[in-house]
Amino acid sequence: MDNIWEITPLRTRLRAERVAGKRIVLVPTMGSLHEGHLTLVDVARQRGDVVVMTLFVNPLQFAPGEDFDRYPRDFARDAALAASRGVDILFAPSVEEMYGGGRELRITGSSAANGWEGAIRPGHFDGVLTVVAKLVNIVQPDAACFGQKDIQQVTLVRQLIRELDFPIEFVMVPTVRESDGLALSSRNVYLSATERHSATALSASLGEATAVWRAGTTDPGALRRVMESVLSTRRPGAPLVADYIAIVDALELAPATRVVPGTIIALAVRVGKTRLIDNIILGA
Ligand code: AMP
Repeated sequence: MDNIWEITPLRTRLRAERVAGKRIVLVPTMGSLHEGHLTLVDVARQRGDVVVMTLFVNPLQFAPGEDFDRYPRDFARDAALAASRGVDILFAPSVEEMYGGGRELRITGSSAANGWEGAIRPGHFDGVLTVVAKLVNIVQPDAACFGQKDIQQVTLVRQLIRELDFPIEFVMVPTVRESDGLALSSRNVYLSATERHSATALSASLGEATAVWRAGTTDPGALRRVMESVLSTRRPGAPLVADYIAIVDALELAPATRVVPGTIIALAVRVGKTRLIDNIILGA
């Protein structure tokens, strides 16, 4: 695996691959790699010849007061994991390399960026869309892989690709979970043992909602109440506080009036100082 830190040598290297007829697949990450990221790499390898993983903690997508400074960073560990899973090129630019010289332009998301995560994390999706556009322009991949775990990001990046005519294939990879259901996340390292225990309620609440829907309930309010009751079950030492439980359509993430196959249930929950998200696509 090659580690590349700057845009110009990355472009030179990728030009050679393209001339050789290689299909390039992009996997953007913020590092602190876990099995979720590495599954994106597995899918990327099936989809092309050269896997480019980017490792960049993007300051633009952190709202003021969020965890940008304490976000876990361990380049040596990430590089070893990426290499062991078959990443061909690891691109790890500095903030200066990506945004040096005073950059003011931002890509602003559609109305789908305003609710849910966007309402709680002002500017987050503008930061995501701007960095994804930059990374796609730098790497010029044939395909790019994103995780279902960040479902609102999936919706908005898909829209970016379609509406700005990026000539790339979008690949969504299902959420990878721990054996007890907790979605893997770089932020799980923040959890204490009691918080980690409480955190299993996110996926449990989604499981309950799915079961109730399969049994015939199509009213979003009823499913939300089922989930609230799972989340509010007494959790000594680490209670859960839901930021939102969204029951929405897949295209615009607008509230669903009736729950049908394809409806998305997404939630964000605080446990202690840590914020966790999860979602399911019903009937998928
Ligand atoms: P991040 O480093 O958190 O920005 O994530 C980089 C990519 O990995 C994004 O496309 C995420 O959606 C994806 N990802 C993160 N966690 C998971 C997971 N548990 N399962 C699948 N994909 C994930």
